[in-house]
Amino acid sequence: MVEATNFIESIINEELESGKVTAIQTRFPPEPNGYLHVGHAKSMCINFGIAKKYGGKCNLFLDDTNPSKEKTEFVEAIQADIKWLGFSWAEIHYASDFFDKIYELAEKLIVEGKAYVSDETAEEIRQRRGTLTQPGEESPYRNRSAEESLTLFREMREGKYADGEKVLRAKIDMASPNINMRDPVIYRILRATHHRTGDKWCIYPMYDYAHPICDAMQGVTHSLCTLEFEDHRPLYNWVTENCGFAHPPRQIEFARLNITNTLMSKRYLKKLVEDGAVDGWDDPRMSTLSGIRNRGIPAEALIDFCERIGVCKANSEVEAGYLEAVTRDYLNIHADRAMAVANPLKVKLINAKEETLSFEYNPNEPEKGSREISFSDEIYIDADDFSLDPPPKYHRLKKDGYVRLKNAYIIKYEDVVLDENGNPAELVCSVVEGSKSGNDTSGVKCKGVIQWVDAKTCVDAELRRYSSLLKDAEYAGQDFGERLNYDSVSVKHGKAEAYLAQIPQGERLQILRTGYYKTAKTENGGLLLSEIVSMKDNFNAKK
Ligand code: ATP
Ligand code: MG
Repeated sequence: MVEATNFIESIINEELESGKVTAIQTRFPPEPNGYLHVGHAKSMCINFGIAKKYGGKCNLFLDDTNPSKEKTEFVEAIQADIKWLGFSWAEIHYASDFFDKIYELAEKLIVEGKAYVSDETAEEIRQRRGTLTQPGEESPYRNRSAEESLTLFREMREGKYADGEKVLRAKIDMASPNINMRDPVIYRILRATHHRTGDKWCIYPMYDYAHPICDAMQGVTHSLCTLEFEDHRPLYNWVTENCGFAHPPRQIEFARLNITNTLMSKRYLKKLVEDGAVDGWDDPRMSTLSGIRNRGIPAEALIDFCERIGVCKANSEVEAGYLEAVTRDYLNIHADRAMAVANPLKVKLINAKEETLSFEYNPNEPEKGSREISFSDEIYIDADDFSLDPPPKYHRLKKDGYVRLKNAYIIKYEDVVLDENGNPAELVCSVVEGSKSGNDTSGVKCKGVIQWVDAKTCVDAELRRYSSLLKDAEYAGQDFGERLNYDSVSVKHGKAEAYLAQIPQGERLQILRTGYYKTAKTENGGLLLSEIVSMKDNFNAKK
């Protein structure tokens, strides 16, 4: 018996022990009406994770019962995202594959007196539905004969009625304390071209009716979904029971993943894309999986994040900084190091000679060794690493001070050239003799270590950083349109080691003292360094 790490696995263990189930089957059931987001990653980790843990299988199930919103583009994007996370489905099924069977079962329900065609409008149905404290009122069509309902239902299918003119309702209980059980609509008339079945159908089953049938037809044993479906469970069970499935799946609900300041609904994400507020579904600021991938967050880090937040029964909100912290931990171990300066300040080194120095790929992977970097009598440092008027305990370069250049030498301040505003335009320094990194015999004590690039070989680099698409939580509750942060991309024109323009695009690096970046190309073909996560850990610092 495998050890349970959450309440769902405990339930499964009990069922295996009692012999209620023998083989485990789950499914990941997105609706192809948009791109997957980080919340779906949690659902995938649970569904694919449980199947793997129990030696069972997990299908990809595309829930395409709402043709007006679904597209093949989304189906393809969903598949790419699942593969990117490293999951593979046993079988792929579409709700639309089961449309014939779902229809046939609806006829069976009608014949057995468990469903009826109603001529009520959506508004009339709503008005008669009752409230949490008041029972609903029966439909005037509820006692229509099975024969009449069957004829009407067939005519609905044949296209005899306009959209919305009739619906098929399950005959359950208008007085049920659970509103979902008050004769829910299970079929509607809708003339929309379906992305797979085209114009074959003009009636479509409702989610609550189709989903349990599709689960059962696939042989799913555990239908795992988010908490908002808890109230739908009695209906789920009613459908599988009344449709005559001998081994009905068991629905178990878990808490949705919510992340502070993060949009997590396809509807809103889609609106951002359609309004042009972002550069498409894969904009690096988006919480879609394609956005996260494009941002440069590794799939391994995202999975680690989902595992660390775990599976719970109660809704809660995870700090946005947590995914970043997990990503930073991962990249700190796996990302090679390189140097770039975001705000270049030229430094002339009066006594330096051109030479090749050695730079370790990654101190956490010493077996990778080192690469060569060039050094000369002209370098760039970051303007923020020099101060004319330093605060106390300033360990970087100041007038008459010293600083160590990472993997190179200690340099000493000699002179500064100021621009017309009195800001440093250029520095003159000298190299301290005998101060080479790894073999320092100079005796000069120097606390600060800064990054630099060789001015003679470096390349121009655009450094792009991202912040949240939403303004802070004080705006929570407001419409997301009012919370949009139009200032969520910042750009700096810096200098980078030539090496960064030579390696493949998409490489993830720690740019020393700057952040974790992904290499890419600008619109003009230049080097783009695109921030994955900042260097600073706001998440752990806050705790
Ligand atoms: P959205 O509101 O973004 O469209 P959804 O729940 O309608 O989300 P589906 O495509 O129907 O999206 O979801 C597929 C599966 O992913 C469902 O089982 C759903 O419960 C799960 N899921 C969706 N969002 C989250 C989330 N934030 N956390 C965990 N699971 C989620
Ligand atoms: Mg949905």
